Amino acid sequence: SYYIKNIEQNKHLNAFLEIYKEEALERAALLDAKRKAGNALGKLHGIVIGLKDVISFKGHKLSAGSRILENFQAVYNATAVERLLQEDAIIIGRQNCDEFAMGSSNENSAYGNVLNAADNSRVPGGSSGGSAVAVQAKLCMISLGSDTGGSVRQPADFCGVVGLKPSYGRVSRYGVIAYASSFDQIGIFANSVEDAGLILEVIAGKDDFDSTATKDIFKFSGQHEKKNFKIGYFPATFNHPGIDPEIAVTQKNFISHLQKEGFEVSQIEFDLLDYIVPAYYILTTAEASSNLARYDGLKYGAQQPAKDLNEQINLTRSQFFGKEVQRRIMLGTFVLSEGYYEAYITQAQKVRNILLKKIKEIFAEVDAIVSPVSPTTAFKTGEKNNDPIAMFLADIYTVFANLTGIPAISIPLFKHSNGMPFGLQIMASHLNEVTLLAISEHLA
Ligand code: GLN
Repeated sequence: SYYIKNIEQNKHLNAFLEIYKEEALERAALLDAKRKAGNALGKLHGIVIGLKDVISFKGHKLSAGSRILENFQAVYNATAVERLLQEDAIIIGRQNCDEFAMGSSNENSAYGNVLNAADNSRVPGGSSGGSAVAVQAKLCMISLGSDTGGSVRQPADFCGVVGLKPSYGRVSRYGVIAYASSFDQIGIFANSVEDAGLILEVIAGKDDFDSTATKDIFKFSGQHEKKNFKIGYFPATFNHPGIDPEIAVTQKNFISHLQKEGFEVSQIEFDLLDYIVPAYYILTTAEASSNLARYDGLKYGAQQPAKDLNEQINLTRSQFFGKEVQRRIMLGTFVLSEGYYEAYITQAQKVRNILLKKIKEIFAEVDAIVSPVSPTTAFKTGEKNNDPIAMFLADIYTVFANLTGIPAISIPLFKHSNGMPFGLQIMASHLNEVTLLAISEHLA
């Protein structure tokens, strides 16, 4: 009830679209009774968790922040949700996000923007903005979000909480509304690295409903002994023209401090920085245009009746999809069209392959890469709204991990003189969350 009260007192933040008040209280009472009767409880008993509005929770609304799914209800549980429930977690509500997880500021939700709890005039980041603010403002203990290009790490960075994007394949995507299927991954918001590790252990693993979910077992042990980890960084990241000078200086100082702490620190040559954002937006809009074709105004969701089928599809999609989603569907169908495919898709796939080769070389030398999460701290609401390109370019540091499928985390370490928090991003090799979390614990 502490969290329900907090949510109700913080309605202005617009982090939750719906609270499962009675249901959550009933479940808490039930768990309590179970405990009193001497029954064993699950690993997550009493843990209060919120879900981004793209993750299915059976019998509850699921709208992806979009009008097109306004009255849609989930008909089954996402595998991750099923596993949380099996361990006796309490699901407290559905969290606001950018429409179909497209955005970096939570200003693209059909249900209004979300406010950063540290400064209400600023954005919380996106697309999982509601989920980040929920943990930031203590409206729940843990949130599950989704990270296709940074949507967990960047809002975590803007809100001063931990944001973990597991390796591609670590967590089943079954029951997650698809944006770009070869990039999407459920991610975790928490107040500590340990909490994030514990939740990951519960939701990770093989799943018959998602063939990309790995058999590899992830066990989180908590305490790690301090090893002399090898840490690398790309000096090129600090030459990015959009980077806030204070963020650059703080991160550079932090890296030299690592060296003094006994970590082995090395510079990594990397000259592909200019290619990764374009490659990301070509491939993700292409996948999105195909994934979103299912919202045709016939099968489910909103319908705009018209005189024939084509008109019904057109009217429904133009009326109920927001501006950013329409922009991306158009971009995606354009890059996929005959005559342009080779110029865009093939080139972007080449970039992705080069990056995959590159990370093999990098992780043969170092255990982890550190970098900023975002070039700036949380910006003002409305500030970048009319400049989609600027918004895209700010994803420069996060999309690398999604293009290559590696795990990455944002840990809140710093405070800017403007009063806003910002974090450090750490990335490790594919399926090597153990190393990622061990290093994070030492740095946090
Ligand atoms: N800002 C990125 C985008 O708009 C990230 C989205 C995400 O990770 N879901 O595509």
